[in-house]
Amino acid sequence: MLDFAVGGDEFVTMAGPCSVENERQLIAIAHHVSQRGARILRGGAFKPRSSPYSFQGLGLEGLKFLAAAREETGLAIVTEVMTEDDVPLVAEYADILQIGSRSMENDTLLEAAARSGRPILLKRGMVATIADLLRSAQLILSNGNRNIILCERGIRTFETAMRNTFDAAGIALLKQIAHLPVIADPSHAAGRRELVPELARIGVAAGADGLLVEVHPNPEMAWSDGEQSLNFAQFDSMMSMLGPWIALRQASLREENLGQGERGLHLVGASG
Ligand code: PEP
Ligand code: MN
Repeated sequence: MLDFAVGGDEFVTMAGPCSVENERQLIAIAHHVSQRGARILRGGAFKPRSSPYSFQGLGLEGLKFLAAAREETGLAIVTEVMTEDDVPLVAEYADILQIGSRSMENDTLLEAAARSGRPILLKRGMVATIADLLRSAQLILSNGNRNIILCERGIRTFETAMRNTFDAAGIALLKQIAHLPVIADPSHAAGRRELVPELARIGVAAGADGLLVEVHPNPEMAWSDGEQSLNFAQFDSMMSMLGPWIALRQASLREENLGQGERGLHLVGASG
């Protein structure tokens, strides 16, 4: 049963494979990340890909595997929905609907996702300004859904040494102006696993409310985004490294919150 807040005092980690590959593997990942404190299992069943020849996702079968992993572990599920037509199906299985970077300005998808009533994880488009991101959030709000989590996942700049440029300042700014939970996705920003823990730490320091991170038991064999996926040991060491930073965040939030009520987007998910 899911019952926790994103954007409140707790730092919320969402972790899992880029693509859902098979049920056994997904459940193993879910158990592992859950033991290290993750609250939400991420995994793509419908995949937007840079090449039309790449794996496009398992679709409904993948959603069923995600539901099975939730059943086994109690983790909430976040997964991407790519088309307006798929919204009812994905909303039936997912606790949070992910709108991918490539879809951030797909208004009919945003409207349909908003109307599903599920919380929305809105990823910043790779060439979207902060104003563009907030416009998309506004469209979701104006369709009656206030449960929005913003996600910084790196933007395109002239720099090509990394897959994208992680906009830490964007996180800090969004926390000041948007009054919505903001999470950091260091995996898609970095594009290389060696950089992921550092970007995660910068995300925490910038004020992010949580992380979205790609984890795979054998990244070299992953069906998508293997180069940026952490294996189990790397995920564990990242989580240990982040511990004191998260504690620091918690301590400063407690000071800020003295006398204030509960904050954040409260999640009671598809299973609850
Ligand atoms: C993903 O989360 O696997 C993904 C495709 O992300 P983005 O939309 O940020 O590229
Ligand atoms: Mn990915």
